[in-house]
Amino acid sequence: MTFEGEHIERSGRLSKFVDASRLIRKDMSTFSPIQDAMSYRIPPADVLAEAIVEALKGRPMVVSQRKLTTMVLKKLREKDPDFTATEERIRKLAIDRSLATIEIHAREAEERSRHGRCPVCSSKMKRIQNETIFGGTVTLGHKCTKCPYWTGLNRRIPIRYVFYGDDFKGPAHKEL
Ligand SMILES: [Zn+2]
Repeated sequence: MTFEGEHIERSGRLSKFVDASRLIRKDMSTFSPIQDAMSYRIPPADVLAEAIVEALKGRPMVVSQRKLTTMVLKKLREKDPDFTATEERIRKLAIDRSLATIEIHAREAEERSRHGRCPVCSSKMKRIQNETIFGGTVTLGHKCTKCPYWTGLNRRIPIRYVFYGDDFKGPAHKEL
């Protein structure tokens, strides 16, 4: 047997619960963890490209991706203190827009290389093939269609990048 009051009480609790969940949802919709916690903004590609060019003007040879990133972020924050960019985005944009000559240092891994996207710039790779004496072809490795990355039968893992701007005077090797 249920008393009228008991039922109302239960409904009341339920409606309170619903209200609370609505409140949470409302808070979630206005809460942006990225904006509130870190306060950063993603710059448009053109703005980032400009910062890369400016950074390389000051120092035409940069011996690591981390160093380049630090320099680019400095230039970027002169435009907007909240701007940020990852090392990977800076590297890929520099390659995509030919803003720098990139030198890739890699080590050979145990496993076999596979046909797929370039680990440096995400472009398509093509097979490096050789003709056999039997009239067929044999795959010797893969080569990126955009940047200097290549891999033999064993996968080559990029470990370090060197960037050269237009002002670099010495001989720049594309791939080591
Ligand atoms: Zn590539």
